[in-house]
Amino acid sequence: MEGRIYLSSPTMHGEEQRYIQEAFDTNWVAPLGKNVDEFEREMAAYLGIGHGAALVSGTAALHMAVKLAGVRPGDRVICSDLTFSATVNPVSYEGGEQVFVDSEPETWNMDPRALELAFERYPDCRVVILAHLYGTPAKLEEIVAICKAHDAVLIEDAAESLSATYRGRYTGTFGTYNAISFNGNKIITTSGGGMLLSDDGEAIQKARFWSTQSREPAPWYEHKEIGYNYRMSNIVAGIGRGQLLHLEEHRAKKEEIYHTYERAFADLPVRMNPYLPDSRPNFWLSCLTIDPGCAVTPEQLRLALQAENIEARPIWKPMHLQPVFQGRAFLTAAEKPVGEDIFARGLCLPSDVKNTPADMERVIETVKRVFA
Ligand SMILES: *Cc1c(COP(=O)(O)O)cnc(C)c1O
Repeated sequence: MEGRIYLSSPTMHGEEQRYIQEAFDTNWVAPLGKNVDEFEREMAAYLGIGHGAALVSGTAALHMAVKLAGVRPGDRVICSDLTFSATVNPVSYEGGEQVFVDSEPETWNMDPRALELAFERYPDCRVVILAHLYGTPAKLEEIVAICKAHDAVLIEDAAESLSATYRGRYTGTFGTYNAISFNGNKIITTSGGGMLLSDDGEAIQKARFWSTQSREPAPWYEHKEIGYNYRMSNIVAGIGRGQLLHLEEHRAKKEEIYHTYERAFADLPVRMNPYLPDSRPNFWLSCLTIDPGCAVTPEQLRLALQAENIEARPIWKPMHLQPVFQGRAFLTAAEKPVGEDIFARGLCLPSDVKNTPADMERVIETVKRVFA
């Protein structure tokens, strides 16, 4: 059996160890420290946003965002439907209730028309959580305008889309509060980690406070609020600083992978995951959908790849179809829900930064064989 080809695995470069070594040498093997401060500063500067709080995960960043947005028990929060559960779970942590909004076919992200329907149905909604799926920016102009018109706070889940831009501006800077992730499969990784980003310095300070157990400034341990242990460690932040130096390189490699598939599959009854002409995805995962009416199923394709030791993965299963969210509202502007259709016809392909031309050939030949 030939070597395994991964969907998206960590790619280290060596510089990461320099920052870790520095932490060891200065004995800052602790939460907080120079790497944490510098990683926050460097990431915020890269994205062009005011402040960042480095946390243990993207999910923790989303949780802090939901708290900062003021979600209280019983509040309805409008959320992307076609996404990973981590986008929407923090609403439940705070006792809120998700209102799921369908995707549109041009970016696979939240459909602005369905978002309008959600506000019509629930005019009291004041928070929207928007994910940029697989690294493709959503229709941000429309979504930002609708949120403004309804006086709603936008939270961007840019966990998958770090380094992607919409009209020249990075995703993760459009929301009042924004979350990114450095989980092991993301475009850059710290093994696990995340960051909350905002132009509101006081809000970021508040998130740092909650994330360090809500310790009041007193010599003893004084608490007026419930706290969390969410801060990133100085070692983990060192990996992040080294990875950030290679973010653009990873993005370029993933873009090349996408276009290699696109060219190779030009004559097959498939389409690559689409994006808007004025956005620049980070191409975190290359995905395809099989044309309607074609006899081949994504599961057939996935199993054929698996037999060749190649990792492929179904599209995220829509949240409104998840048993845990049974009974939640779901709004669509389409006759047939778009997210369900993408889930039924789609598959995520190996998009690993370390894929060689020979690896790409192996994937492509296997896919072509299934359609032959
Ligand atoms: C990975 C991911 C998250 C969560 O990030 P973690 O760092 O794994 O907690 C949130 N949303 C989306 C869309 C993701 O893909």
